[in-house]
Amino acid sequence: TYVVTDNCIACKYTDCVEVCPVDCFYEGENTLVIHPDECIDCGVCEPECPADAIRPDTEPEMEKWVEFNRKYSELW
Ligand code: SF4
Repeated sequence: TYVVTDNCIACKYTDCVEVCPVDCFYEGENTLVIHPDECIDCGVCEPECPADAIRPDTEPEMEKWVEFNRKYSELW
């Protein structure tokens, strides 16, 4: 899965939401988040993010961001 990280805070762009084929972006408190169970890992959103905030969860130290994305996406 891909996850939204701290560079997204206060970002106003929604380019990622527009390209996601499965609509798995949700609104968090001050970031967007990706629902980790709905993301199909296509990677299309990553290069669209002008803040470089979207990372694959296979990168080191992503656990807390996976939890963060899950927490806020499940509020909906
Ligand atoms: Fe959506 Fe693909 Fe990005 Fe996952 S990797 S959030 S499915 S665009």
